[in-house]
Amino acid sequence: MRRIFLWMADNAWLRERLPQLWFARRAVRKFLPGEDAASALTAGGEFAKEGITGLYTRLGEHLAKIEEAAAVADHYLGVLDAIHDRGLPGEISIKPSQLGLDFDATQTWQHADRLATRAGEVGSFLWIDMESSQWTEPTLQLYERLRAAHPNVGLCLQAALHRTAADLQRLLPLDPAIRLVKGAYAEPREIAFQGHREVDSNFAALAVEMLEAAKAGQKPRIALGTHDVRLIEQIEGHARALGLARTDFEVQMLYGIRVDQQRRLAREGYRVRQLISYGEAWYAWYMRRLGERPANVVFAVRQMVG
Ligand SMILES: Cc1cc2nc3c(=O)[nH]c(=O)nc-3n(C[C@H](O)[C@H](O)[C@H](O)COP(=O)(O)OP(=O)(O)OC[C@H]3O[C@@H](n4cnc5c(N)ncnc54)[C@H](O)[C@@H]3O)c2cc1C
Repeated sequence: MRRIFLWMADNAWLRERLPQLWFARRAVRKFLPGEDAASALTAGGEFAKEGITGLYTRLGEHLAKIEEAAAVADHYLGVLDAIHDRGLPGEISIKPSQLGLDFDATQTWQHADRLATRAGEVGSFLWIDMESSQWTEPTLQLYERLRAAHPNVGLCLQAALHRTAADLQRLLPLDPAIRLVKGAYAEPREIAFQGHREVDSNFAALAVEMLEAAKAGQKPRIALGTHDVRLIEQIEGHARALGLARTDFEVQMLYGIRVDQQRRLAREGYRVRQLISYGEAWYAWYMRRLGERPANVVFAVRQMVG
């Protein structure tokens, strides 16, 4: 099933045609409140009333040329202003390749620096997503340079990669903000854990390392980017054993996924943030979401016929 959806995600013929179909547009609404930033912010505003804060990202990855990066940065500057104007507790999350990392690390840094500066001015926060492993080292370097200049920047690290334990040790002295995720990319076994169990136990070990650093007086901002509630609750147990509270870390999940659990965790005193995607480039992204979980396909079909 997963392979079929990954194939569909990469198929140019389907990519051009499927998004035009009204039923496909209707089905994607579960995961994407709309194609423009305003729809995402409106959806985020509703969740904010329930104590679930927002994190906004525009879909899209690698650019065709570096010149496009300036327009992406300008777009996010506008989003930061809109978050501020609406009085939302919102942050932004960006793929480094959207800012041109494939082409030019210096220009990418300049764009990210502009965004972090504006985020600081409006009381917001810039998160840097992690892409496939060939970008791990350049992304870490980008983050280190950004963190040296700004307190309000965070980085995603992937528990699937063998190198992440060392990367975390490298970053902890910077008092970083880390969003720990399992990892969305298929990586070779030479560099990445392949089994769910191994990834999950590395995730827990990395999270505990961050909690121990916090206990020892360092100031990492710890975010668990996962829908795996069992794992979150296991890590909360470790936090308690260390004398820390569940508010000493936060949980980040995606819009439309396990929303019942997001609400429950928020009610039980966890700090919950929801990553809300928007944008026109939703087709490939949506196919990957469907491939992750057969139940979502059933939902999509019901939306199409119902
Ligand atoms: C806020 C956030 C930011 C992220 N940023 C990045 C990033 O920058 N780089 C990166 O590589 N990856 C990123 N990811 C993706 C991440 O790496 C995983 O691929 C993704 O979160 C699925 O794994 P999981 O941790 O939810 O655990 P899984 O083990 O996949 O799932 C745990 C449980 O959650 C539920 N679940 C998971 N997915 C779905 C779904 N689609 N629909 C319904 N239920 C579901 C299921 O009940 C499942 O049993 C991000 C994820 C989140 C939540």
